[in-house]
Amino acid sequence: MNTSASRYVYGPVPSRRLGRSLGVDLVPFKTCSYDCIYCQLGRTTNKTTEIREYVPVDRVLDELSSKVRLGSPPDFIGLAGSGEPTLHARIGDLISGIKKMTSVPVAVLTNGSMLWVPEVRASLAEADLVLPSLDVGDQRVFDRVNRPHEDISFDRMAEGLIQFAQEYRGPIWLEVFVLAGITDLPDELRMIAALAKRIHPARVQLNTVSRPTSEGCAVAASVQSLEELRRLFAGFTEVIGEGLPSGTADAASGGAPTDDIVALVSRRPCTVEGISAGLGLRPNEVVKHLGSLCRNGVVLPERRGADVFYKRGRKT
Ligand code: SF4
Repeated sequence: MNTSASRYVYGPVPSRRLGRSLGVDLVPFKTCSYDCIYCQLGRTTNKTTEIREYVPVDRVLDELSSKVRLGSPPDFIGLAGSGEPTLHARIGDLISGIKKMTSVPVAVLTNGSMLWVPEVRASLAEADLVLPSLDVGDQRVFDRVNRPHEDISFDRMAEGLIQFAQEYRGPIWLEVFVLAGITDLPDELRMIAALAKRIHPARVQLNTVSRPTSEGCAVAASVQSLEELRRLFAGFTEVIGEGLPSGTADAASGGAPTDDIVALVSRRPCTVEGISAGLGLRPNEVVKHLGSLCRNGVVLPERRGADVFYKRGRKT
């Protein structure tokens, strides 16, 4: 399967946090400073803190410029993908290049683990929105949930986040990914909320598992418990719901449907409805393409409760 037509840019993605966002992947598959037990992409294969130009910025910008001209504009261009985007040494140049190309706002979805590095903090200055994660309140749970690279202690990560919040001029939406029996405990959430108060995010987004995870022990907290825990946080705090933004007929990404489907599910396992909403394809068309992709082993189905998610297969 040739997916070179969409090597670095994928979607639009039906994002519960950002609406319809066009995704940009800045690192090779599972190059990350964490190995979270809840990761929807499986185990981290390259756990690193090495900052370098993992993919060529000029090629990413070329690909993006053809994509943004097609279909209706997405709500955001999201720098995220299949690993940690702030490991890319030229993420700042990429953001500047995108701002010259389009008025679509640029959002950076980061695990926040590299913000103790001054150059990383400075490189995000031009982003319109930064969405870092803060899932835990101490070193013990940090090691259990995020399984960070040995260079990253809990204190180093937390101080980096606080420092970034003091320097960055744009809005910060802080994600707290809550797991049943591990972090949905009032004492743990109180510690996270105390740290969040020092970060002063424009909003806190309480999120939980909705897709197959790296480890079976990563289980969703109930929406009811998240609603109760919300009160522990100061400022605007929302529970991220299950609903997907709806797709429209003119939302088509403009690429070959099978390439776009593979590019999307390689970064984010999706249901038929999710693929349909993100790429603006009719559900029956999505089903038809998924049938041949599954038969060829390019995409794999995985059941979670009543839903079937499609994810990257062995031959991708
Ligand atoms: S969830 Fe994000 S930060 Fe955690 S391992 Fe996966 S890609 Fe890395």
